[in-house]
Amino acid sequence: MKVFLHSIGCRLNHSEIETMARQLLAAGHEIVSDTAVADKIIINTCAVTAEAARDARTMTRRLHRGNPDAEIILTGCYATIAPNELARVEGASRIVVNNQKPQLVQMLVPNAPISLPIFDQEPILREFLAGSVGHTRAFIKVQDGCNNRCTFCVTTIARGEGKSRHLGDIVAEIQAFAQAGYQEAVLTGVHLGSYGHDLGNQTGLLELVQAILTHTDIPRLRLSSLEPWDIPPDFFRLWENPRLLPHLHMPLQSGSDRILRRMARRTTRASFRALAQAARTHIPDLNLSTDIIVGFPGETEQDFAESLDFVEEIGFSRLHVFSYSPRPGTAAAKMPNQIPGKVKKERTQRMIALGKQLSLQFHQRYVGQTLPVLWETTVGANEDGLRWVGYTDNYIRVSAIGSPNLMNKVLPVRLTEARPDGALGELVGVAAPVDAGE
Ligand code: SF4
Repeated sequence: MKVFLHSIGCRLNHSEIETMARQLLAAGHEIVSDTAVADKIIINTCAVTAEAARDARTMTRRLHRGNPDAEIILTGCYATIAPNELARVEGASRIVVNNQKPQLVQMLVPNAPISLPIFDQEPILREFLAGSVGHTRAFIKVQDGCNNRCTFCVTTIARGEGKSRHLGDIVAEIQAFAQAGYQEAVLTGVHLGSYGHDLGNQTGLLELVQAILTHTDIPRLRLSSLEPWDIPPDFFRLWENPRLLPHLHMPLQSGSDRILRRMARRTTRASFRALAQAARTHIPDLNLSTDIIVGFPGETEQDFAESLDFVEEIGFSRLHVFSYSPRPGTAAAKMPNQIPGKVKKERTQRMIALGKQLSLQFHQRYVGQTLPVLWETTVGANEDGLRWVGYTDNYIRVSAIGSPNLMNKVLPVRLTEARPDGALGELVGVAAPVDAGE
């Protein structure tokens, strides 16, 4: 059977699609990157914004028109919160809600293994899976669900209460990726900071990171999104180990305390400022990025101005800016004083502009410096060779001309020019690129 896999949204969705890919390969099926030849198409959907939901509907219609014989299976958060709506989309063959997702592959191929004897997969892990992930980083799901109730958030509705995987399973999985030649593992979850809480361990994430750094050979370990609370004292001391990468994505969502209260966020300007200072004290070259929602119900021009000021004060290196969209079933969707679209759009553009300015400033700090880059993919070529793209340890997106085989290599690069979306660089001490044809 030929299967095309795609995920929309967060890294957790990516890691779930990677697991499905390995299960299908272990059952002897083929992962394809061309939807026109696929027998089955699996889309892991997202419900965080109205745009993400629309992307899933548009993609389903388009892929169905391109291959009417393929069975299109829709799973993920959008499929969970609006199964009937998605089932009515032309081309949608089957809806699999989140709590059935772990059995999805078995629904398609009953003989597929439920849990994977990881080490057996080593040869396959080395081959980057066309059409599914194509990453050099292994996204590792460590927990699911969340017990918080941020008023705008649909994820808790779609994914339920917090559930943690067992530490031993996670360590074994990461060691298997390391043995398969992966250079980097990224820990993902809905609420990463709550790892272990459902197992009665309030310092679960700290102990998990320590166990991974002690009991695996993975060269680079990165944390994905981390809510700015549930962070125990001494947490930032973990970064004394250089394998833990100096990049933290801590969603602020608003720089106005009044709006943070309306969002039911368990943080304030003061506590976030203190956390950012503590992180920067312990983590040299920290890349601190964040999520910001613009146009939350009731947001006044004053609230928005405070948000802009606070974002500039913290000096984030990257902003993910979301224009507030009411999500079905959330408290915020029922709130009065919804902001008109025109106002939301204008504020979103101002926040994005600030974000670009801050990113450029952050990248400019490293022009002239030499940083290790993990090369991932190519984006074209010129007469001198292929243009490769990769990420520094502190998550600057770098592109440089290089020889044909940089995939999954960590190589030193001197940054030569800063851009809002990253930097240009040149490889240091690496043989001049050879013409691919020679
Ligand atoms: S912490 Fe808040 S925003 Fe994050 S998943 Fe939980 S409810 Fe949603």
